[in-house]
This record gives sequence, C-alpha cells and structure tokens, in this order.
Amino acid sequence: MQLYTNLKIFHYQDKLDSLPQESNTIEAPIHIRIKPTNACNHNCSYCAYLNKDLQLGQDMSIADRIPAQKMEEIVSDCIEMGVKAVTFSGGGEPLCYPQLATTARNLAEGGVSIATLTNGALLHGEVAEVFSSLGTWIRISMDGWDGPSYARFRSVGGDEFSKIMTNIKNFKKLNGKCFLGVSYVINRDNADHVFEMGQKLKDAGVDSIKFSGCVVSNDGHENNRYHAPVFGRIKEQTQRAKAELQSDGFEVFDAYHELDEKFDKQYTWCPNLQIQPVIAADQRVYTCHDKAYNLDAGVLGSIKDQSFKDFWFSNQDKFYEINPIRHCQHHCVANRTNKLIHEYLNVNPDHLPFV
Ligand code: SF4
Repeated sequence: MQLYTNLKIFHYQDKLDSLPQESNTIEAPIHIRIKPTNACNHNCSYCAYLNKDLQLGQDMSIADRIPAQKMEEIVSDCIEMGVKAVTFSGGGEPLCYPQLATTARNLAEGGVSIATLTNGALLHGEVAEVFSSLGTWIRISMDGWDGPSYARFRSVGGDEFSKIMTNIKNFKKLNGKCFLGVSYVINRDNADHVFEMGQKLKDAGVDSIKFSGCVVSNDGHENNRYHAPVFGRIKEQTQRAKAELQSDGFEVFDAYHELDEKFDKQYTWCPNLQIQPVIAADQRVYTCHDKAYNLDAGVLGSIKDQSFKDFWFSNQDKFYEINPIRHCQHHCVANRTNKLIHEYLNVNPDHLPFV
C-alpha cells in the first residue's frame, strides 16, 4: 500500500471541517514535528538550516534544546490532546537529544505513532531498540555513495559511511515492525551515483528509498536552474531504479522533479499549519517544517511559559495571520495538500449532490 500521498488528510473529516476560520472550532493537530535539539554530529555542506540563502533556519541557534521537563509536558499534552503522530526532525540531529529514547517510548505507550528523521550515525543501542519495536518509520538522510564522498559532504571521518551502513543492517536484524527508509538528497556532485546508491541500499536491507533534489534557493526557478545541467541524467537513474529495483519489500519513491509547484501559493490562509505544526528546540511553535526558525513569518507562538495544549486551544485567530501569498513564496512541502484542501472546502454546497 502507498506510503507517500497528499490524500491522507482526507481520512480526517472533523479536522477538515474545523480548518476554516468560520468553523469557530479548534481541533488538535494530527501530526507534530518535534525538533528536540539544534545540535548535530554532522556538518553537511548543503544543510538547509545553515544555508544563508534560505529563509528556513534563518534565526536558528545551535545551542537550543527543549528542556527535559518541557519535553515531558509536551508528551503528556500530545497524548491528552489525541495527537495521532509525532516525527522527530532537525534543526539538529534528533538522536543527539539525550532523552530521545524515553520521549519516544512514552509517546508510543500513550498511543501516539512515532517516527524520526536522522543521519543514522547514532542509530544503535536503546534508541534503535525503542524505534524498532515501537516506531512506525525511520528515514535516514544520505548523500555520499562511499566513505570519501560521504566524508566530503558531511565533514566527518572516512569511516562514517560504513558505520551508517552497519547501523542500517543491524537495525534490520532487530526484526521490529519499524519501516526503515532512506532519503537520498541529490545534488550536482552525486548526480552520477543515484542508481548505484539505490542498489547499495536495497542490498543493505532498507525498505524504501526516496529520491529528492536538494533545495538551494527560496526561488523555484533558481532551484530548477541549479538542477538543469544534471536533471536528465538523474531522471534516467531514478526511473531505472523504479523499474529495476522496486519489489515487494523495497519501495522506490521518485520525488526528484522540477520544484516550481512547491513554491507558488495562490491562497490566503494555510490549512496545513493546523494539521502538522512544528514544536522547535527554541520552545516556539512554528507553522510548518518549511518555516521553522523564521521569526519574521513562521512563528505561531511560544510555549516557554505555557503548555502546548493551553497555547493551541487559546485563540483561533493565530492560525490565519500567515498569508501564504505574501509570506510563503518559497519551498513548501505542503503546497499540493493545501491546494487540495482549499478545493475541497470551496465546493458550492448546492452543487455537492452532482458528483
Ligand atoms: S503555506 Fe506552506 S510554507 Fe506557508 S505556512 Fe503553510 S505549510 Fe508553511
């Protein structure tokens, strides 16, 4: 069955009905991204959070980390509010957060589905066991194709690549229910190694690989210009991977395409920010992953001196202050979902029976 689709939200009727301002109701978010820490054990040359040309991460402080007590409060709130899923992600590397295993276990035991993005370097020991037995999925982000290339991309030691591959194999040996995927981030330097990495990762036992292009600018055309010289060569390999590597136990998701459709917004309020907001390491709630650590136009509020639950249900108006036409003319992973939701909400009720 399909893992990646923009239609998951259409299984949540109450949430959809609560989204417009006129509904006068607030429902809990369905899926929260928690960024526990901004510290990272890798130093990627293209890291979107450190790239000065991107609005994402522009106000991020590497020293920020959610205090352990605040994290416990967030966990209780998520369980009490009926949040369905939590994904841990960067800022930094989630597995660098000392309380990650406990946090993940408490959420899962409280009925919240858990997942994490990671570079995979610390995926062993207790945290690996917790995710293997209680997690829904893990996605490791990769770029190099061997020891030297991986070390170059990430300013790490030459043995880091083989360490990650070993962690992948050992994680699969735990035989848990957790789905293990890799997100292979494609740029001009690894453009000729895309199929090769698909094959290597399949052989290592991962369950899926997602191919996507690195984002280098807030402007969609600029991104396309960056990818243009290698676009054809890469596409040939992603399609070959789909045709030759995809099988029952291995999904190939080709998200390498022109990026324009993720940039241009024609709607004045954002449904997605009520569906999957971000709780970040600076104890602020942001609209989404694409606007994290943007204090100009990404913050919904702070939970430093109040609980997430009290903050979320306090006033509905905060959800409509961001106008995507004005504030979000940059990469947005939720753009397609937002367009579908607006289309769904805008159907003339008199014409509904004429399906
Ligand atoms: S439109 Fe996209 S970028 Fe803007 S707040 Fe919504 S999800 Fe974030």
